[in-house]
Amino acid sequence: MTKQNFHTNYPDNNGFFGQYGGQFIPPQLKPAMDEVLKAYEDAKNDPSFQKEYEDLLKNFVGRPSPLYFAKNLTKILGGAKVYLKREDLNHTGAHKINHTLGEALLAKRMGKKKLLAETGAGQHGVALATAAALMGLECEIHMGAIDIAKQHPNVIRMKLLGAKVVSVESGGRCLKDAVDSAFGAYMQDYKTTFFGIGSVVGPHPYPMMVRDFQSVVGREAKKQIMEHEGRLPDYLIACVGGGSNAIGLFNEFLNDPEVKMIGVEPAGKSFKPGEHAATMTLGKPGTLHGMFTYLLQNDKGEPLSVHSIASGLDYPGVGPIHPDLKELGRVQYETINDVEAIDAFKRLSRIEGIIPALESSHAIAHAIKLAPALKESEIIIVNLSGRGDKDIDYIAERFPI
Ligand SMILES: *Cc1c(COP(=O)(O)O)cnc(C)c1O
Repeated sequence: MTKQNFHTNYPDNNGFFGQYGGQFIPPQLKPAMDEVLKAYEDAKNDPSFQKEYEDLLKNFVGRPSPLYFAKNLTKILGGAKVYLKREDLNHTGAHKINHTLGEALLAKRMGKKKLLAETGAGQHGVALATAAALMGLECEIHMGAIDIAKQHPNVIRMKLLGAKVVSVESGGRCLKDAVDSAFGAYMQDYKTTFFGIGSVVGPHPYPMMVRDFQSVVGREAKKQIMEHEGRLPDYLIACVGGGSNAIGLFNEFLNDPEVKMIGVEPAGKSFKPGEHAATMTLGKPGTLHGMFTYLLQNDKGEPLSVHSIASGLDYPGVGPIHPDLKELGRVQYETINDVEAIDAFKRLSRIEGIIPALESSHAIAHAIKLAPALKESEIIIVNLSGRGDKDIDYIAERFPI
């Protein structure tokens, strides 16, 4: 592995993590991205912004989230100690609130009136609508008509929180069409609107900014494991959709070579095109949503359709930091399929009394495979990125409980 300090000039001044990232956008959007970058750099160096953000994380989100020693699971697996970073206990039930609050605070500082975004299953839409309500901003969420029908409770939540939900009737009426629609609306309106991206994806500065907001997860985890064990963990494990909860946990440990890191992607139903979303494992370099990254694509470079039982992992791209960390050999990427994720979902519920999100269940499933092969003295931290309440109807309708 190349010796690299990941905390200085990473990404570089043009937003590249190695060769990935950058700003691949229409020229008319360049001033808008420059404005966001400048405002973010100002805010990052302003103690009053940082103080307000930290106060919200503490008193609105409920941070720090506990680092919980899963002793029942550890005993049954019979190997390494498994700790869970409990992002499921955050207000709104997942890690996404960490960065939507940061984005909303920045939007307000920039004098913007509205937060705009797309959402797939609605998790990001709910987290952004929550931050908008708190900050007194308008919120507009674009969502495919098919997803609106499938994810009714999240649509109701967004509306209760005061957001306008725009039903997207074009194309396949799913996430990709919602992205195109939200992007179109932003182009019309970027002077008064802030685009609230849902992961470490998109053009510079979004991957860097969302990483910074999420890195509180790893900072807390490092302090907490030192309190519990007096040493750093041997492994960190997190699921990867766009990659925000994973880099949120990993970032603080990147310069600690003794800590191994594993990102877990969805292998879905099979490795046939259209039946998985294992971008880090099977994707190739390409351009999507304003960034150069790995992409599941056809011969023409168009994104392929994807599948995972966890809708939050259902994305044909990935944040540009991940291909770089893979090529540097710093993070290893593995896959877990739908069946293994459902098994982990049920086992954690039964064994620990914690119902995990189906996304997080991919990370749990990998820990279940890995722990028995390790020594009892070794330590694994799994990022439990969200709670599974949103998934119970889906599971109950399809599988015997
Ligand atoms: C959205 C979501 C994810 C996937 O997003 P990342 O940016 O890869 O973290 C994972 N877990 C939960 C609970 C989510 O809601």
